Amino acid sequence: MQKIKAGVLGATGNVGQRFIEMLNNHPWFELTSLAASDKSAGKKYGQAASWRLENKMPEDVGDMTVVPVDPKKVDADIVFSALPTELAKTMEPEFAKAGFAVASNASALRMMKDVPLVIPEVNPDHLGLIDVQQDERKWDGYVITNPNCTTIMMAVTLKPLAKFNIEKIYIASMQAISGAGYDGVPGMAILDNVIPYIGQEEEKVETETRKLLGEFNGSEIIDAPFKVSASCNRVMVMDGHTEAIWAEMADDPSPGEVKQAFLDFDPGLSGLPTEPTPVIEVKEEKDRPQPRLDRNIGGGMTVSVGRIRPGIRYICMGHNTIRGAAGASVLNAELLKKKGKL
Ligand code: NAP
Repeated sequence: MQKIKAGVLGATGNVGQRFIEMLNNHPWFELTSLAASDKSAGKKYGQAASWRLENKMPEDVGDMTVVPVDPKKVDADIVFSALPTELAKTMEPEFAKAGFAVASNASALRMMKDVPLVIPEVNPDHLGLIDVQQDERKWDGYVITNPNCTTIMMAVTLKPLAKFNIEKIYIASMQAISGAGYDGVPGMAILDNVIPYIGQEEEKVETETRKLLGEFNGSEIIDAPFKVSASCNRVMVMDGHTEAIWAEMADDPSPGEVKQAFLDFDPGLSGLPTEPTPVIEVKEEKDRPQPRLDRNIGGGMTVSVGRIRPGIRYICMGHNTIRGAAGASVLNAELLKKKGKL
């Protein structure tokens, strides 16, 4: 099979590095372009990027020359965007206009009415918005997005609970420092500390969740009717966002019924290479899930849940730069391919 040419925008950053790790040797995609800022463009990737992942930088990637974030300089069919928000707002449409498929991590376009915000296990039908977007904007390409790293873990766990008629969700997050990017949180601020504020995070969790669990009526998304109330905190963990969730549901399921709904969850997406098994892992131990112990389950794509109590209250946890970022976009791209959109 001819592989699809893939570029990474923001290739030197935290999420960009995860993209490279996940796309290197991917059965369907071939890394053909790595793009970053002017300070990196023209250098070999191995010199431009300060590699921060556990696994070594792939050797052939280190030899690739970084290009600027410019549709004329990027050789790819699909670009995976890990650009800072402000830049994403202007550059992602430029790439779509130029005919690229853009799978974005950035928040810039997520809540636009004609931009699909997708988790394959939750709302694959929302990809139908691509046709609406291309009709309205007259783009040859298109932009699809994945949610914020905190939203995604919770939304995956809410999908199997939707049948109990969700009325209200409360969430308190404990978010890893890698979620803020390499230069995001100074060591002096986070060491021995909890920071009870993450700019715009609560708003993102509250709005994106409703779009994700909303209904696509053929032309637009009707938000899910329940309310979400979020309180987001930065904690001294490297990778892995932990979330305490209170889910009020009209059908008032027991903890056993909720646990069974998690265990039975099968989104039926067979054949996507990055799809984890299981999508949701139920931890039986009373002190799990924990980021250090559980963030790499399913290659970092599984969301772990535990401590399911009456109320319903439970904890969920997932790897923020894999399931919450690069892995989410790669899974979306695999879904695009499966649906004939690539
Ligand atoms: P990061 O580590 O700061 O990386 C930023 C990347 O963007 C670098 O490759 C950088 O290139 C490039 N860049 C910065 N300014 C640029 C410019 N003016 N022109 C061209 N390229 C530029 O950030 P990150 O954590 O990877 O986050 C990237 C995006 O993903 C953000 O929108 C973020 O909100 C989103 N996101 C992050 C996470 C997470 O867990 N970290 C989760 C979900 C979504 P240089 O190295 O050349 O400067």
